[in-house]
Amino acid sequence: MSLTKDIQDIRADFPILNQEVNGKPLVYLDNGASSQKPKAVIDAITKYYTEINANIHRGVHTLSQKATDAYEEARKKLQLHFNAKHLEEIIFTKGTTDGINLVANGFTSLVKEGDEIIVSAMEHHSNIVPWQMLCERTGAVLKVIPMNQHGELIMEDYDKLLSEKTKLVAVNHISNALGTINPIKEIIDKAHQYEAVVLIDGAQATPHVKPDVQELNCDFYVCSAHKMCGPTGVGILYGKEEWLNIIPPYQGGGEMIKEVSFEKTTYACLPHKFEAGTPNIAGGIVFGIALDYLNSVGFDYIQQQEEELLNYATQELNKIEGLQFVGTAREKTSVISFNIQGCHPYDVGTIVDKLGVAVRTGHHCAQPIMSFFNIPGTIRASFMFYNTKEDVDRLVEALQKARTMLL
Ligand SMILES: *Cc1c(COP(=O)(O)O)cnc(C)c1O
Repeated sequence: MSLTKDIQDIRADFPILNQEVNGKPLVYLDNGASSQKPKAVIDAITKYYTEINANIHRGVHTLSQKATDAYEEARKKLQLHFNAKHLEEIIFTKGTTDGINLVANGFTSLVKEGDEIIVSAMEHHSNIVPWQMLCERTGAVLKVIPMNQHGELIMEDYDKLLSEKTKLVAVNHISNALGTINPIKEIIDKAHQYEAVVLIDGAQATPHVKPDVQELNCDFYVCSAHKMCGPTGVGILYGKEEWLNIIPPYQGGGEMIKEVSFEKTTYACLPHKFEAGTPNIAGGIVFGIALDYLNSVGFDYIQQQEEELLNYATQELNKIEGLQFVGTAREKTSVISFNIQGCHPYDVGTIVDKLGVAVRTGHHCAQPIMSFFNIPGTIRASFMFYNTKEDVDRLVEALQKARTMLL
């Protein structure tokens, strides 16, 4: 298979890539923040609003039924993709942050003073703050799995943190700031020995790998469509049925009830119990289309292409004088964080943008990681399967220019 030939076909699916920014052809390397959307996804949004837009699960009229069917079909696709045992285990959310907050709120009455919640040193703020808030509400204590200088979790220290007090473990599958792929299977199995519940933040993993939630045996898994070539404002929470039945609803309102009276309200069954109000209907449907698209490209292809990019970019970036990688884990995905000695990441980001290259600079919503490495932030280039070696060359060239200008 010739990768270079296929890649041009793939790039043609993404209209946004074919433009100039600041007078230069766009090189989009901020996929860790949000991915671009293929035409199939863009068209599906228009098609939804042009042909079947109506509220779901309510009307008997034809459009409402079509919209409901399409929305539920998307749920089914998500179930199959993640290999959830039951359809009702797929809850539509606004995204990863929303899913984590749903679970953290749900555990308010299940966690008590002195219980412990474990996160890792390389979490996104959205997998730290909701747990801190849960601790504030309940008197539970937050514990942190430390990492080493490569940006790998220190598993011996995790072993020491686990105890009968551990109620919940929440870690990311792949770090958005460092690219580290965490040994989540091991983390999950060890937590289960203490009957602790495990939530996996899959926001940065699901664009690159296809997790099997039954094989992983995690209790919760969350992700966002917008990082997977889908629209913003929609994501899923996978939860084991037993846990979703135990935790109370997150929000009250329409759609999530069985019967309402002023004396007592009973809640709807899963998944509706957690889906109060009119959801992002178009978003949910089109999430399914984005998933179809990713699967048509194929996760084998995606991984092969991205690994090649990771290796090539690492090799080429290494040639830049004074460049230091932040995050050099053995198990790593195509997210590369680095700094250039003597240059502030923000200044570098601004200059390379003038040259048409989009990277992220700053703390990447992971300030504790920056404190650990004692740096203000990093420059982050994050790749998707639609990026090319030429993109890497343009990045390196732009960084060389920035360095010359700043030093
Ligand atoms: C992007 C990201 C989040 C937050 O996702 P939202 O879509 O902003 O809710 C959480 N964790 C990780 C690892 C991420 O990469």
